[in-house]
Amino acid sequence: MSEQKSSFMKGVFNNEISDEPLKNFPFFRSKSEEDFKMMHDSIKGWLEESSDSAAFDETKKLPEEIIQGLKEMGLFGLIIPEAFGGSEFNQTLYTRTLQLVNQFDTSICLTIGAHQSIGLKGLYLYGTDEQKAKYMPKLATGEMIAAFALTEPSAGSDAAGIKMKAERKGDHYVLNGSKLWITNGGLADFFTVFAKETIDGKEKITAFMVTRDMGGVSHGPEEQKLGIRASSTVEIYLKDTKVPVENVLGQPGDGFKIAMGILNQGRLGLAGGALGSIESVLKDCATYAQDRKAFGKNIGQFGIIQEMVADMTASAYALESMTYFTSHLVDSGDFDYSIEAAICKVYGTEAAWEAINLAMQIHGGNGYMVDYGLERKLRDGRIGIIFEGTNEILRLFIALTGLKEPATAFKGAMKNLQSIQKFPDLENINNAISKIGVLSEFAFNEVKKSVVTEKLTGFHEELQKESERLASATKILATSASRLIRTYGKGLMEEQIQLGRLANIAIDTYMIATVLSRIHGVLTERGGVEKNKDELELARYIIRNAKARINHHAHNIRVNRDDTIQKTAAAAFDKSGYAFSLHDQKW
Ligand SMILES: Cc1cc2nc3c(=O)[nH]c(=O)nc-3n(C[C@H](O)[C@H](O)[C@H](O)COP(=O)(O)OP(=O)(O)OC[C@H]3O[C@@H](n4cnc5c(N)ncnc54)[C@H](O)[C@@H]3O)c2cc1C
Repeated sequence: MSEQKSSFMKGVFNNEISDEPLKNFPFFRSKSEEDFKMMHDSIKGWLEESSDSAAFDETKKLPEEIIQGLKEMGLFGLIIPEAFGGSEFNQTLYTRTLQLVNQFDTSICLTIGAHQSIGLKGLYLYGTDEQKAKYMPKLATGEMIAAFALTEPSAGSDAAGIKMKAERKGDHYVLNGSKLWITNGGLADFFTVFAKETIDGKEKITAFMVTRDMGGVSHGPEEQKLGIRASSTVEIYLKDTKVPVENVLGQPGDGFKIAMGILNQGRLGLAGGALGSIESVLKDCATYAQDRKAFGKNIGQFGIIQEMVADMTASAYALESMTYFTSHLVDSGDFDYSIEAAICKVYGTEAAWEAINLAMQIHGGNGYMVDYGLERKLRDGRIGIIFEGTNEILRLFIALTGLKEPATAFKGAMKNLQSIQKFPDLENINNAISKIGVLSEFAFNEVKKSVVTEKLTGFHEELQKESERLASATKILATSASRLIRTYGKGLMEEQIQLGRLANIAIDTYMIATVLSRIHGVLTERGGVEKNKDELELARYIIRNAKARINHHAHNIRVNRDDTIQKTAAAAFDKSGYAFSLHDQKW
């Protein structure tokens, strides 16, 4: 693949904002918009008629007519090139489709999402022309359904620890082992499988395309799950499965990189789904709050209920801004969007979970009852925080990826420092001055960069405060990053609580940047302040809240009780439970 262009957020970690993309928010106005709207409306009409989530949940299966309908609507071939019979959607159109489908049913959304976002994505991103010609047509129609098989019983987050074995034997490999919790596994004929082979005496991961007809492929029973019950989740077993060498994806040994590349892009689909889920519960709440009476009023007239509805709306707006700004980065070429996609997944899945929780609260006791459907949405919505990279792992990923460049700059400064210390004949005093010089050069470079962000100009005149907030958020992110590097050095890898805070600052900074970008576009291109008063207010509300959270996290990076956290957890581990129970205390 060609070398990737710079990442928006990596720049921000380094206190550099590339404001050109911010001045051009990617509103939906491409030439294909009309065609997309037609397809969108027909999918929506079909889902309104056919989707029955309560029944799917109860029977724990999508009926054959639904799978057939998905095939007929072209929903298995959304991203596949037209040449192979697909719709050739770009990331934006694909994400919008998942957003729509998840307004109706999460199991349906996951079936088409796992097929395209991860199941066949390896072939899409890394496949040769011959490999694509062989499999894409069948994958486009849904004649073959795809699954992504990485996780194993002893390797979830720690994917590099997989044990499935691949042995090269002439013109084929022999694969043996099992894969756990594979979405679509019960329906799939095409699996992107990761297994370990020995290359030059070292164990390395290789990615394979395995089809059921190769022999030795079987699966266990459907898992009994909290939610997404009609989405197939099974264990997959490979026993002496013969996979031709031409079914290797990319180069032998590149499997880990390929798996991460697939997951990077797949995460945006989950963000789209999360947005659909917020929209769906917001719709439920808007109706319910106006119908339900308490104390002689509609509950929607109560301030606390209004705050919940406003916060759900704010989450939808923020997530929509982040997700489609990022989708556009993907569509614009070889941008490195790995941090941005991870931010969208983490924020989106947590915002959706929070929105469903608020929706349940607004519905009171009715929300808890099966008939209202919210308990199912709550069960269905929980998985987003766990799979395709848990949100903890992704927070570490966001922070550590963002820290790479500032850490390298600091290491450079420290290297200079060490080379100065190597000269024993230097006068002590000179040595000390030199040390200060090198470190202050590091600091000076940072100040110089911060001057750049303070001059963030060119946004709509009504957005002065908001652009100042973006400049300030960026500066806080960069200074927090350098503070952590200076304080902990290499030991920073172990400071997960601090890294989590840094990731949270990055998430909120990206939110401010993308919401500012969107509202700037709205004000400058869609009729000014008067016409867009309410939207301007909402954007300001989101930006203000995000900045307040950033200040809070930055404060906690400087002053915290992390040692108490560690000791308290240690006490729980030691006691195998609650260590401070009144009941157990002896006097
Ligand atoms: C319904 C469902 C569908 C799935 N579909 C697929 C699929 O299609 N294909 C596939 O390959 N996999 C699939 N998975 C697996 C999923 O991706 C994993 O469950 C996920 O990666 C987490 O791994 P784990 O469950 O082993 O948790 P663990 O890795 O055991 O993690 C447990 C907890 O520890 C935390 N943790 C782990 N390591 C660290 C660390 N270094 N620092 C801090 N915290 C850490 C985690 O965040 C989590 O909170 C699916 C799982 C489910 C439940």
